[in-house]
Amino acid sequence: MQEPGYLRPRQNAALTPGEETAIASACPGLVVDERDTCGAGNGLGSDALWGPARFVGTGYATDAALRHQASSGGVISMVLVHALESGLVDFIVQTGADDAVPTANSTGKSTGYADIFAAAGSRYTASAPLAELESWLQQSGRFAFVGKPCDVAALRARARTDPRINAKVPLMLAFFCAGIPSAAGTGRILDALGVDADEVIGFRYRGDGWPGYATATLRDGSNRRMTYADSWGDILSKELQFRCKICPDAVGNAADISCADAWYGDDRGYPSFEEAEGRSLVIARTRVGEALLAEARAAGRLVTAPLAIAEIAKMQPSQARRKKQILSRLAAMAVAGRPLPRYRGLRLWAAAARDTPVGQARSFAGLLRRFIQGRI
Ligand SMILES: Cc1cc2nc3c(=O)[nH]c(=O)nc-3n(C[C@H](O)[C@H](O)[C@H](O)COP(=O)(O)OP(=O)(O)OC[C@H]3O[C@@H](n4cnc5c(N)ncnc54)[C@H](O)[C@@H]3O)c2cc1C
Repeated sequence: MQEPGYLRPRQNAALTPGEETAIASACPGLVVDERDTCGAGNGLGSDALWGPARFVGTGYATDAALRHQASSGGVISMVLVHALESGLVDFIVQTGADDAVPTANSTGKSTGYADIFAAAGSRYTASAPLAELESWLQQSGRFAFVGKPCDVAALRARARTDPRINAKVPLMLAFFCAGIPSAAGTGRILDALGVDADEVIGFRYRGDGWPGYATATLRDGSNRRMTYADSWGDILSKELQFRCKICPDAVGNAADISCADAWYGDDRGYPSFEEAEGRSLVIARTRVGEALLAEARAAGRLVTAPLAIAEIAKMQPSQARRKKQILSRLAAMAVAGRPLPRYRGLRLWAAAARDTPVGQARSFAGLLRRFIQGRI
């Protein structure tokens, strides 16, 4: 963990040429290559903003307690329950609150409903769910993996050269990701709540309602909480690491199923964060994802309703804008002499074509200005 609270890899031994190559071809800070998942390879084609989709819909878990506990409609958690109980996988690798530092994350093994229930909900702070990949691969049995879009892109990239991954990980789930805020951002929430970090014995970023509250549970049993609009909108969204601002796949293109908030628009067309019953946006991207979703629906675990792909932009306007502006941001990085990541198969030109020239110019100039001012 490095200031202001992001996880960074640290090299502590010399790497072999083979290890160097493996990192260079899979680290999503260096390369995101989705030609085989997003390109013609999957036989589907891919929407420039929202990626490949065999099914697009809104939905929720029929288990009311899980739906309430989860971040949105509990679809990710319910799909995991189904994958486990139907025997598709033997365990799940997913991320939840760290036992020692309740505001932080740790990745662990879920083997039943209670574990999945406990890990439900979004945690807006750094996670490294692939850090122990080798140990998960060495355990007996197959597992489902839940991660940020970059985690799933990295796992798919590793699968190209490590055949154990396709054999052992039949299911990869992702969520739309606006980016990882620093731990300092969480600290600002605690400050605003008037809470000393040492007094905190539990912390959730949201969930327990939709969107739910950022809630600190203190040693004396009391809770202090803040709305999602305040915690995400005013604090955490201002603490994102730079890599996330040039993320070419923040929507989980490489996952079997990707979920997000199916926000209802307010009168002005902006997402409303009024508390409501949870509703997820669900995109099944692969045959595996589509089949599992159909099974979970048939088993009565999920309810879904189809949605036209063009409707997603109304629920996720900032994700639409981000994808449209990746090329202009890369151009600003090039002009500023920064090293460029390699992005392949992500339809960045087609996405940029959906933006206005003014939007492109603003995004280019805004980022270039921040480089020149030394703010990045
Ligand atoms: C950093 C971050 C940014 C996000 N940005 C967006 C966004 O821009 N738009 C949007 O619609 N949704 C975003 N979400 C996702 C959203 O909050 C919901 O997770 C999503 O709608 C799925 O809801 P659900 O009810 O199906 O998930 P749940 O059933 O609640 O399951 C959530 C799953 O995510 C896993 N998880 C939670 N936090 C992390 C983490 N930090 N790292 C790895 N795994 C984790 C949990 O283990 C659990 O399996 C973000 C989530 C995070 C953590």
